[in-house]
Amino acid sequence: MENKFRSLPSVDKLLFDSRIKQLGDIYPHNLLVDLIRQRLDQERASIARGAPSSTIDEIAESIRARANALSSPRPRYLINATGVILHTNLGRAPLSKEALAAMEVASKGYCDLEFDLDSGTRGSRNTHVEQLLCQLTGAEAALVVNNNASAVLLGLTALAKKKEVIVSRGQSVEIGGGFRIPEVMKQSGAKLVEVGTTNCTYIHDFEQAITPRTAALLRVHSSNFKIIGFSDMAPLEELAALGTKYQVPVFDDLGSGCLLDTTRFGLDPEPMVQKSVALGVGLAFFSGDKLLGGPQAGIIVGKKQLVDKLKKHPLARAVRTDKIRLAGLVATLIPYLKDEALKAIPVWRMISMPLEDIERRAKVWAREFGDLARVVEGESMIGGGSLPGGTLPTRLVAIGKQSKAKQQSIAQKFAQKLRTQEPPLVGRISENVLLLDPRSVLPEEDQTVLQALRSAVADLRAKGEI
Ligand SMILES: *Cc1c(COP(=O)(O)O)cnc(C)c1O
Repeated sequence: MENKFRSLPSVDKLLFDSRIKQLGDIYPHNLLVDLIRQRLDQERASIARGAPSSTIDEIAESIRARANALSSPRPRYLINATGVILHTNLGRAPLSKEALAAMEVASKGYCDLEFDLDSGTRGSRNTHVEQLLCQLTGAEAALVVNNNASAVLLGLTALAKKKEVIVSRGQSVEIGGGFRIPEVMKQSGAKLVEVGTTNCTYIHDFEQAITPRTAALLRVHSSNFKIIGFSDMAPLEELAALGTKYQVPVFDDLGSGCLLDTTRFGLDPEPMVQKSVALGVGLAFFSGDKLLGGPQAGIIVGKKQLVDKLKKHPLARAVRTDKIRLAGLVATLIPYLKDEALKAIPVWRMISMPLEDIERRAKVWAREFGDLARVVEGESMIGGGSLPGGTLPTRLVAIGKQSKAKQQSIAQKFAQKLRTQEPPLVGRISENVLLLDPRSVLPEEDQTVLQALRSAVADLRAKGEI
């Protein structure tokens, strides 16, 4: 052990290594010293664990790789062939060309973010997007913030602090990524009053809990789970009527915030923002990067009197949106105004993609694998906190056949190879088969996909692994 530690190269020796010296042309001396020290610490730790020591070549190479990785832009582009359209780990909604162009315009030079060009005086970053959102949803007022979690937090803090908010036990839920209704409530200073049971909450449960300290009735869309079997939740219609009767606003955390009717595509109905507004909710909250198909944002629409209080609250400043995402959001909303969302917005292009097109593309993809793959029937998922259990019929390229040990390793090998190539391509593995779904890949990416598949096949074949 002692000897092994002693055989480690010194920092100085590594600095004189020709490969590290080359890095010195690109990176400052201090950075290289840091990277060398970190690598040597790691080496000592692994030797202490009993691992064999690395050669100086391996150490130099890993320092070079580390320096390159550190100085590469992240997050990096990848091809999502998982068939999950809104994949939170893969960045949720891909943006339209128009949104990307608008984000570049807004960030390249200066812009009129908070400046009124007509009067030459200060303006508000919210004015234009508010007009669009009101037009699209029928709401009196709107406000855009950082994300939906901060939208809900702002709404509760500004309007329910030190007061009570009534929510069904079946909706006092965790959405994922640490967003838990009871905890958000605590953070806001509002008192959570849970009513009903996990599977059944009736309108009289809400009614009985109303007191002079009630600030709101909260509905939370169960966006990532589904209760199957005996269940009865007071519908928003009844909640809205109760709110009117007692002069208590309804807050509606919609999650995805859909503007189009999902049943047109054979999906379950996802609650629509327009409907919540029409029912008279005080505030509706939704995300910009779920089914809306835009950049990350938290959108609040509702009654002017309530939205105005949110705009004035100090927390609004802390959770405000930036010019780049604001520009992307506006450009995402415009196609809805022109009734062109299905054609213009990538997530809706994917949802509305004809099955024949998917099948045709799957066949072309499958050809690259020869007899290692075939096209099978399957399901694409909406994902990302919308339409729990909502799937669309699709066609999948299935690589490796079910339950044969050799085939399993083929699926794993392809999955790993495709993931670690440039650009990475991510599929999903089910029952020892690697599945690639063309639905979550835009047709304009197909050439890139074919190249990726071709080079993975060639590479594994050259290594004799398939
Ligand atoms: C996704 C979701 C959130 C969180 O939205 P973010 O934009 O990710 O902050 C909150 N509530 C519900 C019901 C959701 O589905």
